Amino acid sequence: METIAERLKSALVSLSQTAVNANRAPNSVQLLAVSKTKPVSDIVLAYEAGQRLFGENYVQEGVEKIQALQELSDIEWHFIGPLQSNKTRLVAEHFHWVQSVDRQKIAQRLNDQRSAHKKLNVCIQVNISDESNKSGIATDAIDQLAEQISQMKNLCLRGLMTIPAAQQSKQQQQDTFLKMQALFSKLKSKYPQIDTLSMGMSADMNQAIKCGATMVRLGTAIFGARKTNY
Ligand SMILES: *Cc1c(COP(=O)(O)O)cnc(C)c1O
Repeated sequence: METIAERLKSALVSLSQTAVNANRAPNSVQLLAVSKTKPVSDIVLAYEAGQRLFGENYVQEGVEKIQALQELSDIEWHFIGPLQSNKTRLVAEHFHWVQSVDRQKIAQRLNDQRSAHKKLNVCIQVNISDESNKSGIATDAIDQLAEQISQMKNLCLRGLMTIPAAQQSKQQQQDTFLKMQALFSKLKSKYPQIDTLSMGMSADMNQAIKCGATMVRLGTAIFGARKTNY
């Protein structure tokens, strides 16, 4: 069986190769290691292999891990799961990034609860496949939310994140990622400082990179299959 260090290494080789094949710089795509449901010891193994960006989906679990690993102070923690308003305080206090901001109320609470000395980086989560039961904002509402976030002094707007619908054909998958790329460049023309298009997971990272992803979120490819599907 491959170790976490080996999986990490091959994921990094693969993502820089895919970037180069797409005429992009080899270091233009960041790897977020999604450690949800995995033990702290797995995170330490990835850290020892050089990984610094970690993603968690569940507030309680994420905060416990952040506290357990406080000494590894150069880890950058990304919250990537659905966020209810009664949980925003813990997230604002412990994470460095929130990629799943999809409404003004959540953004406002994160801003109000964030300490003023270090901005919280945020991405707007886009419901690109237009599924009524999925989180993320509708594409035609991105501009308004971006405008609101850009006024919030404790938040730093970094870009867009998406989780496309499953079971699409390769062609549909590519169309979806290209739509995100277009939305991202439109937003960037208004906010030149944004730099993050977070899309692509273990199964579709290469497609996403070809379509301009600057960050892929890999769970299974790094830590192996998750037991529970929560
Ligand atoms: C679980 C999860 C991932 C990682 O998924 P894998 O298929 O295991 O790579 C990425 N992004 C989000 C938002 C997730 O919830």
